[in-house]
Amino acid sequence: MADETQGGDRPILTIDLAAIAANWRLLAERARPAVAAAAVKADAYGLGMDEVAPVLAKAGASDFFVATAGEGAELRRLLPNAAIYVLNGLPTGGAASLLAHRLIPCLKSMADIEGWANAGAPAALHIDSGLNRLGLTEDDVAALAAAPEKLARIDLVLVMTHLVSSEEADNPLNRRQLERFHGDVRRLGLTSKRLSIAASSGIFLGPEFQLSLVRPGASLFGIAPLNNQPNQMRQVIRLEAKILQVRRVDRGMTVGYGATHRVAAPGFLATAGMGYRDGLMRSLANRGCAFFGDRRLPVLGRVSMDLITLDLGASPPDGAVPGAMVEFIGPSHSVDELAKEAGTNGYEILTALRGRIRRIYLPAEPRP
Ligand SMILES: *Cc1c(COP(=O)(O)O)cnc(C)c1O
Repeated sequence: MADETQGGDRPILTIDLAAIAANWRLLAERARPAVAAAAVKADAYGLGMDEVAPVLAKAGASDFFVATAGEGAELRRLLPNAAIYVLNGLPTGGAASLLAHRLIPCLKSMADIEGWANAGAPAALHIDSGLNRLGLTEDDVAALAAAPEKLARIDLVLVMTHLVSSEEADNPLNRRQLERFHGDVRRLGLTSKRLSIAASSGIFLGPEFQLSLVRPGASLFGIAPLNNQPNQMRQVIRLEAKILQVRRVDRGMTVGYGATHRVAAPGFLATAGMGYRDGLMRSLANRGCAFFGDRRLPVLGRVSMDLITLDLGASPPDGAVPGAMVEFIGPSHSVDELAKEAGTNGYEILTALRGRIRRIYLPAEPRP
């Protein structure tokens, strides 16, 4: 690729695998005696399934959740013995791809249940308790309770549901969904099965939400599980871009496309080599910031495809010259903070990082 000739000018994403392992252990400890699984859909939230999944397995995870059968097949190559659950349930094309890779569908509809009836392989049952996304509806649960033979031939290894607002610890929906789930499980005669309701945030709502198995994803990667509470997770990533040019600007000049920022006083700007094609969203225009050491550098003007302009102030910090790196995510600026500035959440920030970004993995254990 042409970019390789300028490889040194690409943004750098450093991923701390030891921090991911430590986060999984913290969650597993917190959830005990429930089993802690790991959600690694979307290429392990954009951080790289190939690197991340084996580290989680080594930390002790033996149950994994992915979105699709394709992701499950990839994960199976990495982890021959793991239990791999497919959140989207049966692919519209049928059960074959799941069976070929020993994947466990989260059956989401009456059609999925029928489609798996002759599979002779384990499945999870996904009940929708209010998200109205995937899972059995209230009508489905009633129909199934009236026709128990439909489930009789299926080896159910897990019954699950998913919370709507679990990052809000005091949202009454959490408990309402928990009660509705328990009610549905009783109606279906499945109280002796392994049950699961909590993803990252649910783990922190109390032991009654932990049930038999928890399914954290985002928190493994450093995203805060609960709003408005200190983040107990270790930060996992550092995102840096290189300063390509520093320029002096005078009062009255404008910065970037659309002239959305007007300079109020003479000062300096840094133009860094990262843009929306790499995952720095345009919504960061005049709102986001980077850090150089502990100095905050506000984004000025719009974000371009490959570039972003930062305010160095009246006197640039020592060393903020072309070739130096500025940090968009790191010790001074968390994923959640950047997400807030972009008007989104940490999940979207992580899974948006792409383009020219060079990934560096810090090993989970020191290399021999
Ligand atoms: C993505 C997902 C998870 C993991 O959620 P996090 O909030 O990332 O911990 C768990 N369960 C289901 C059904 C999901 O879709």
